[in-house]
Order: sequence, then C-alpha cells, then structure tokens
Amino acid sequence: MYDVIVLGGGPGGYAAAIRAAQLKGSVVLVEEAAMGGTCVLRGCIPSKIWLRTASLMEQARKAGDFGLKLDVQGLDCAAVVARKEGVSNEIAMGMTALLANNGIEVVMGRGTVESGHTVRVGDKVLEGKNIIIATGSTLAPCTIPGAEGLVLTTDELLGMSDVPGSVLVTDPGPIGVECAMLLAILGCKVTYAVPGPRILPDEDQDSAQRLASALRERGVKIMPRCTLERVENGACLLKSKKKEESVTVDKVLWSLRAPVATGFGLEALGVALGEDGGISVDEHCATSVAGIYAIGDCTGGWMLSHVASAMAICAAENAMGKPSVFNQSLVSRAIWGIVQMGSVGLSEEQAERQGREVEVGSFPYAINGYAMLRGEVDGAVKVVADAGTGEILGVHIVGSQASELIGEAVLAMQLECTVHEFAKGFRVHPAFCETVVDAFRDTEGWALYLPRRG
Ligand SMILES: Cc1cc2nc3c(=O)[nH]c(=O)nc-3n(C[C@H](O)[C@H](O)[C@H](O)COP(=O)(O)OP(=O)(O)OC[C@H]3O[C@@H](n4cnc5c(N)ncnc54)[C@H](O)[C@@H]3O)c2cc1C
Repeated sequence: MYDVIVLGGGPGGYAAAIRAAQLKGSVVLVEEAAMGGTCVLRGCIPSKIWLRTASLMEQARKAGDFGLKLDVQGLDCAAVVARKEGVSNEIAMGMTALLANNGIEVVMGRGTVESGHTVRVGDKVLEGKNIIIATGSTLAPCTIPGAEGLVLTTDELLGMSDVPGSVLVTDPGPIGVECAMLLAILGCKVTYAVPGPRILPDEDQDSAQRLASALRERGVKIMPRCTLERVENGACLLKSKKKEESVTVDKVLWSLRAPVATGFGLEALGVALGEDGGISVDEHCATSVAGIYAIGDCTGGWMLSHVASAMAICAAENAMGKPSVFNQSLVSRAIWGIVQMGSVGLSEEQAERQGREVEVGSFPYAINGYAMLRGEVDGAVKVVADAGTGEILGVHIVGSQASELIGEAVLAMQLECTVHEFAKGFRVHPAFCETVVDAFRDTEGWALYLPRRG
C-alpha cells in the first residue's frame, strides 16, 4: 500500500508527489496524458513564450528611441511554436526526471477513484492511505449559439500558424487580457467585449483601468457591458442594456475553463463540489471524504499554477501527518505582457465592502528613474492598508516587472509586516522596486518624491 496516490501530473500533482516523497512517503503518480499539465503544455509557459516574442517585437519597434536602427521584418509563427514546444518539452522532461529522482512511481493512464483508498488505472488497482486529486481544469465547451465555426481556443491560439486578422475576446479575466494584448501587438484587430463595466472585475479598479489603457494604446477596442449572445451569418451579435450591436471578426477567442471534478469516480463516493463545479476543500485541502485531498484547478476558485503548487505542499504534508494550512489570503495574481500586473490581497473596493477603514498610498512609475531610463513609465504601485493598525490588506502593481515586484508584497504580508515597517526599508537604485517602497511611504503620507499632500 502506498502512502499517497496522486492523480494528475500538472504543477499541483507534481509538487504534491515530491513533497510527500520528501517526507519519506511511498508515492505513485497517475497521469492520463503527458507530464506538465495545462501549465507546461497549454497554459502559463506557452502563453508566456508568445508574450515574450510580442514584447521583443514591441521593444524592437521602439528601438529608434534608444538610438538603435532595427527593422522588424515579420513574425515566423512556426518558429515561435517550435520554441514553445522545445521549452515545454524540456520542462516536462525535467519533471519526469525529478519524479524518478525522488523515487516516485509514475503510472500512465486514466485513474478512476474507486474508494477512499483505491484508484484503478486500467487493470491495475492502486491502494493508498491517502489520495490527492490534482486533475486540473479543461476548456469548457463553447456555449455561444452559432459560434462553432469561428471559435479559436487558447490551445489553438498558442499553436497558430498565422495571426488572425481580427478577433473578438470576451473573457474579462487575466487569460482574456493576455490574449488581447498578445494578438494586438502581433497586428490583429482586437475587439474586447466584457459583460461588466470593466475588464478584470476581481482586481482593483485602478489596475483594471491602467491595463485597459495599455490595451487601448495598442489598438484594442474595449466594449464594456456587452455580452456575446450568438453568431449569425458570420456576425457576432453583442447585447448591451441599450442596444444590440453586430461585429464581424475572423475568430472568437474561447478561453473559459472548467474544473475537472467529475467523471472519474468522485460522484459515487459523495465528494462534495462547490458552486463553480470545483471540488470543495477545507483549509487543509481535505475534501468531504476522509483520506481524499484535492488541490489546484480541480478545486475551482483562483485557477493558477502557483496556487496548485502551494495547495500541493499543504495536502501532501497533511497526508503525511504533518499538519499544514493553505493561506488563501496570500494568493498573488499576475498578468504578463509589456505592461504587467501583479496583485495580492484585497482591492480598495473589497476592503471597503468588508467594512475596513482603509488608507491608500500610490506611486507612479513615471517619476521612477529606472522606469524613465528604460522608457517604461506606464504603471503605478498602489497599497491598500488598514488605517488603524497599518496592516497591509492588498498591493496592486501595474507596469514593467509587476509580476516579479509583487513578491515583495506577498512576503511582507506573509511575515505580517506593517505599512510603517515596509516604508522604513530601502532598495537598490536605480530600480523598479524603489516604487514599491515609495508607495508604502505615500500610504503614511511621506513619499519623498511626490508633491506635498494637502
Ligand atoms: C492560456 C493559459 C494561460 C495560463 N497562464 C497562467 C499563468 O501565467 N500563471 C498561472 O499561475 N496560471 C496560468 N494558467 C493556469 C494554470 O495553467 C493552471 O492553474 C495550472 O496548470 C493548474 O495546475 P493543476 O495541477 O491543478 O492542473 P493541470 O495543470 O490542469 O493538470 C492536471 C493533470 O491531470 C491530468 N488528469 C486529469 N484527469 C485525470 C485522471 N482521471 N487520471 C489521470 N490524470 C488525469 C491531466 O491530464 C493533467 O495533466 C494558465 C492557463 C491557461 C489555459
């Protein structure tokens, strides 16, 4: 009998297997397709490969500002796809090697959970003291009537041989924003219709506005409060409160994802699911059935790789008898591109809705020396704090390297550092990270390089 059976070889399952093995567990990992999961094969890594190309393209176009004479002659999609596959394969191979190095058995095939302690893979029945479900997510079926012929899934986008002439994007979340940014930089005409008043409804309003401006500057047409109702004779019918509009595009991007939580035995065992169809788990990543844990995208909520890996550590430690808790409030989010976003914790609006007395500070990239010398002045850091205690409630960064800078805020929140303590720190110069300290100082009203308040 194994100590732990892990179902799924994405970033969640892979991390869970290794952590359980580090704790001296005997571990088997079951994967039905290929090691790496969505992240390595169809998600984070492939999309950032494309965004890297787009970012270099945009920088090359601005080379003249830096005294360079460069001429971007075109885009070789086949070369980008080949690079994407090379990097993804290299990572997947590394994962396989590291599983072997940790003494983890890998069984290829579709796993079905037959009881709280058994998983069937074909003729093989695996027995374990604990099971960790890490079956991830998949593209949800497209539900827009008439759209079949126009749909461009994210999987197809990341393997494209040509950039479509025009695309309608409807996903207001991070994947939609990244795809809209990518396509626009590569020369596609992008219409971005979102059901609510703005893109990124779960993020701070200021961040969403800054990213919307960055998209508009790259030619994206954003249509708020518009829902794609149906496609008729090749035209996309968009409905808003006041009117119905028709947009003709070559493709409609489809990126909606659904947790993989059913179809492999959990229903029969009575494992509880949440409203979004994900497997319900408590703070220990335990499901409603003893001995079965679930982590990552299959639990719904924030569907992010680093969340899957962090939940993996928690589930594996609990399965191996080492009590562990997953801290949801430290989930950071990011968007890559030229103008990036990094965020953690509550937005200003969310903090106010929770009845907190909020104090806010911010600092623009436009007066940071490093941002100026690099020609990357679009962006700002915003801090949301409790006015009474100085507790950091959220940090929201938009601009170059925001996805890296947000790590500072995550660490500060993890260590329960106050705004005052953060503001007293200092950083290397010239650097983007100086803006983070400056925004914390502004929260206390003494940012040195901003005009006096009041
Ligand atoms: C376009 C795109 C871009 C993204 N960009 C980012 C990003 O920049 N940053 C970020 O953090 N996240 C990003 N994500 C999300 C990220 O990819 C996922 O959050 C992450 O892969 C989830 O990991 P997981 O281990 O939970 O599931 P997955 O990676 O989906 O892995 C699940 C694995 O389980 C296997 N499996 C399923 N059912 C069974 C079964 N019954 N038996 C055996 N094996 C099974 C699957 O084959 C798969 O390999 C992106 C996603 C997409 C689509």
